[in-house]
Amino acid sequence: MTLQLPSGVVFGEEYQKLVKHCKSNRFALPAVNVVGTNSINAVMEAAAKNGSDVIIQLSNGGAAYYAGQGLEDGDAAKLLGAVSAAQHVHLLAKHYGICAILHTDHANRKLVPWVDALIDYGHDYKKTHGVPLFSSHMLDLSEESLEDNLNESERLLKRAVELDMSIEIELGITGGEEDGVGSELDTIDNSRLYTQPEDVLASYDRLSGIGHFSVAASFGNVHGVYKPGNVQLRPEILRESQKHIREARNLSEDNPMDFVFHGGSGSEVSAIKDAIDFGVFKMNIDTDTQFAFAKGVGSYVDENPAAFKYQIHPETEEPLKKKYDPRKWLREGENSIVSRLEQAFDELGSKGKSVAS
Ligand SMILES: [Zn+2]
Repeated sequence: MTLQLPSGVVFGEEYQKLVKHCKSNRFALPAVNVVGTNSINAVMEAAAKNGSDVIIQLSNGGAAYYAGQGLEDGDAAKLLGAVSAAQHVHLLAKHYGICAILHTDHANRKLVPWVDALIDYGHDYKKTHGVPLFSSHMLDLSEESLEDNLNESERLLKRAVELDMSIEIELGITGGEEDGVGSELDTIDNSRLYTQPEDVLASYDRLSGIGHFSVAASFGNVHGVYKPGNVQLRPEILRESQKHIREARNLSEDNPMDFVFHGGSGSEVSAIKDAIDFGVFKMNIDTDTQFAFAKGVGSYVDENPAAFKYQIHPETEEPLKKKYDPRKWLREGENSIVSRLEQAFDELGSKGKSVAS
């Protein structure tokens, strides 16, 4: 039977069903980083237009930006911005007729208090609304020892489970940096760029009995877009990890682990397809949608330079109000995100596969 879920924000058991559904039907959902209502609305519009469900996520910097640059970029802004963005999605996603998964992105040790504060807030939210604020939070302690990483992941997963939530952890280092979290490519030992199957098994043994979690695995993926040839994607690392767990724990499932592909921008389609075959259900895309927004606005400015300098055209005396209205040029940025995401839904195979009813 095909899966059907009510449109709106998906979490808990329904989220896990959706993840399984993606994996068994060999497609993945894009997880798009957002920074404001323009990007959130563009993501929901793109999902609705393409008949796909979608993952909407905020980095700590994106959350602070959402709260507004007039607020000091501190703990309060990171918390309140994320809460505000999540509430926006809770209110609107169902009207777009899509299932949306709400996520936060990389939290290293310094940002763990941000995640704890979001879970605290989630308890209050659940008291009033009966549902958690987010579907899942990400913890990124990949720079620490496996033991420290799993200890903290266990503590946070226990907290998340109380709210019917999941977590995402990171094993192995994703190259590049995202909002101050991560490492410069040339400073890390190459082997650490690739997740080790025994580490994935250790996380399975430690966490699977507690609740649902996914793993951001490193198989040569990098945040940002660099010149071709800089990185070698090796999706077979994911296959090896799945096989290792399957055999070690005698599991019948093909791909027991739920993998996440970070640094998806600019990746070859064949590597994306392989990664999906080996259990990836979520691919993060940030850099390419940032560029799409800039490109859309940039073209508009190129075509209408006078509207960004004068209220009345100095030669034609045409009033330019209709052209400098922010709704005009911000919309061009939104349209451009929508087109870029159409490509993502295509490449990830999620087009027309929405489970929203
Ligand atoms: Zn990432």
